Amino acid sequence: MSGTPSRAVVLLSGGMDSCVCAALAARDSDAAAVHISYGQRTEDRERKAFIAICDRLGIHERLVVRNDALRAIGGSALTDTSIPVPESHSIGEEIPVTYVPFRNAHFLSVAVSWAEVLGAGKVYIGAVEQDSSGYPDCRPEYYRAFNLVVKAGTKDGRIEIVTPLIGMRKSQIISLGLELGAPFDLTWSCYTKGDRACGVCDSCVLRLRAFREAGIADPIRYAGVTNRA
Ligand SMILES: [Zn+2]
Repeated sequence: MSGTPSRAVVLLSGGMDSCVCAALAARDSDAAAVHISYGQRTEDRERKAFIAICDRLGIHERLVVRNDALRAIGGSALTDTSIPVPESHSIGEEIPVTYVPFRNAHFLSVAVSWAEVLGAGKVYIGAVEQDSSGYPDCRPEYYRAFNLVVKAGTKDGRIEIVTPLIGMRKSQIISLGLELGAPFDLTWSCYTKGDRACGVCDSCVLRLRAFREAGIADPIRYAGVTNRA
């Protein structure tokens, strides 16, 4: 390819999937990264991860915004501290209480608005369907439908939401991240704590299982569990 790379916006929460997605976006485009705090338990830690990952990947253009609606609405263990975050037992059997109602629509709306202002043609999001908690806003059909909304509701109708990881197993995402030099050491996945990852929430369990399957050690530290491969 020659010339200036095309612009893209990537949603970067600071978790391992969004980190790999950001590394892909940075490889293939002139990437700008957006982070949204929404009153979730670990928002300070996640914002710190976002900044560190952007620094490492050389993503200079950044947008950090707050969404107060999701916390005010509640209905999720991530935004309502009276609902405990459960230890992981039955991933995939039903939609867990850590689901934040229609959250990704809020995130995508912010990213698409910014993409329109920047003149970016793509919005990257690291949604994963397999090896996930079964959140409905991580399904391919949801992104197909959302792309129709974006086409109908933007000036030029040319922004596309892309989900490069959606069909991958989490262990494959780790392998891809290693190829791309994604800084897993800087990522944060835990739902509950901000100092050391708990190791027992759905997000920690899925992450640890993926690193085990990939045959490498997770570089972050956990409270009271072993994370050696
Ligand atoms: Zn955890």
